[in-house]
Amino acid sequence: MNQEIYCSVNTCHYWSNGNHCKANKIMVTSDAMGESLPDNFDAPQASMASPTPASSCMETACKTFVSRQSDKMNADGVYKQS
Ligand code: SF4
Repeated sequence: MNQEIYCSVNTCHYWSNGNHCKANKIMVTSDAMGESLPDNFDAPQASMASPTPASSCMETACKTFVSRQSDKMNADGVYKQS
């Protein structure tokens, strides 16, 4: 399946020109869940996470975000596609 994910967070390691997300997979979750999960729990493990209802986009976040300067780029099992 070919999916396009657009994201404007250009400080993320997976961000690319044109606001394309180049992560091979991402996990979106609630802010609270995103804060509580460890760095090594991300999109590859997402199917095991409990559902997290939200009432607005303000309560959701991309768990896969990792700063371009971070030394944890490989902590989550997600990779950047070319
Ligand atoms: S991983 Fe998340 S924050 Fe990073 S570019 Fe993709 S959608 Fe945006």
